[in-house]
Amino acid sequence: MEKEVRVRFAPSPTGALHIGGVRTALYNYLFARKNQGKFILRIEDTDQSRYIDGAEEYISEALNWLGIIPDESPRKGGPYGPYRQSERTSIYQEYAEKLLSEGNAYYAFDTPEELEEMRERLKANRVDTPQYNTITRMQMKNSLTMSEEEVRQRIEAGEPYVIRLKVPRKEDIRLNDMVRGWVMVHSSAIDDKVLMKSDGLPTYHLANVVDDHLMKITHVIRGEEWLPSAPLHVLLYKFLGWEDSMPQFGHLPLLLKPDGNGKLSKRDGDKHGFPVFPIEGHFPGKKGMPEQFDGFREAGYLPEATLNFLAFLGWNPGTDQELFTVEELTDAFTVERIGKSGTKFDIEKAKWYNQQYLKEKSDEDLSHYLENDLKQAGTDPNGINLTKVCRSMKERITFPQDIYNGARFFFEAPDTYDEKMASKKWTPEAVEVLEAFASEAEAASTFDAATAKSILNNIIEQKGVKLGQVMPALRLAVTGSGAGPDLMDILEILGKDRVAHRIRKASEKLPVASQG
Ligand code: GLU
Repeated sequence: MEKEVRVRFAPSPTGALHIGGVRTALYNYLFARKNQGKFILRIEDTDQSRYIDGAEEYISEALNWLGIIPDESPRKGGPYGPYRQSERTSIYQEYAEKLLSEGNAYYAFDTPEELEEMRERLKANRVDTPQYNTITRMQMKNSLTMSEEEVRQRIEAGEPYVIRLKVPRKEDIRLNDMVRGWVMVHSSAIDDKVLMKSDGLPTYHLANVVDDHLMKITHVIRGEEWLPSAPLHVLLYKFLGWEDSMPQFGHLPLLLKPDGNGKLSKRDGDKHGFPVFPIEGHFPGKKGMPEQFDGFREAGYLPEATLNFLAFLGWNPGTDQELFTVEELTDAFTVERIGKSGTKFDIEKAKWYNQQYLKEKSDEDLSHYLENDLKQAGTDPNGINLTKVCRSMKERITFPQDIYNGARFFFEAPDTYDEKMASKKWTPEAVEVLEAFASEAEAASTFDAATAKSILNNIIEQKGVKLGQVMPALRLAVTGSGAGPDLMDILEILGKDRVAHRIRKASEKLPVASQG
């Protein structure tokens, strides 16, 4: 029997989940669905100093909004829980002890000052990146340089210590990354990473490897920033005797700034005015992050459009198809089609997706957005048919709120008029036609887009003017501006009384332009 595919998304609750993190979650989710496997959410909260209240809730809410629902998680539980690392601390201790007793890890008692001294000394000797490693460890205060007795005494006396990995001196470490192919690192490039901190809590490396093993994770799909840690993780698998069941690694390409110069950051969002978080957040006191911010959700992106956009940030199906439902993405998704190089974050593409998904919505569905916005603004719909308004606006919107913003004139007669337009188009000929149109419209027994048009055409013919001389003025009178949805549709939606009224109001308020 084939092993069940189990993947995990393992964020640290150190603040809001960046949109790049959401992409990682999505790829894991799609991979699990595609392979009839399980998608697990694990909260990596062993670094108490970086822990931020509310971050875990934020992560859950963001994933929930997008429909990236874990099969196992801290909230939902599951057969391999707990899924919050802070609730698993006794487990890590056991494996740290195994590493110690088998000589693959050691105690280190160096104080921060002593570590700093070591770095300074090495820098003075022109070592660019001073490290605690196979060479330097022999000059430090640890269980490799001290007698067993001394180590015992220090521990018994309650002296703070950490547990470090004993990286072998000369060893090639290889891993076959699903995205990048073979990656090879020599052990001399790896430092003796701390596995257990002086507070008795594990570091990311130990906890991550132990949990991936115990939770039977088969594939580790994560951001490229973790690639340098992967050889270290391979070593840990080997030392813990888990090499045979080691998960396959796949490191996702970076998300780049819109101009491709460097990693996408929170600041880019502020600079260019686009969201870099999935949903709004409020994290007072968190350094490097605005206290309060909006996300894709608040900006008006639909979850399905956001998902589709994110899926394409680093992956492509190899065909021209761009619009994918989650089911289609699941079918089409393969790790082989994830790119190796970084992907530029192109917010215009996100907008394009949003437009496409809005267009696919029924007029009825769209009208709920409009209804809400009207309610929020305290605007009375005044009997205007909201579904028809949405139909007329559909092709012109990028976000749901664009309907209300572009359709306010339906609910409130204009008080001001586009001056530039008025100075050119509000001509004596046009005004004459419009006044006649107002009267005939009022008298008409039916008044829809087609009848409005034929009434207007008749008058134009009689007066011997061209449609192009009248239409802009008519638009100006009923909407106040020079551009908008189809004019005849607007007339139908407003109804003859409003139209007639607005024409008369405009003709009272607007000075006639001197030339046509
Ligand atoms: N806790 C790590 C993070 O915050 C997880 C990295 C991994 O997936 O191994 O991204």
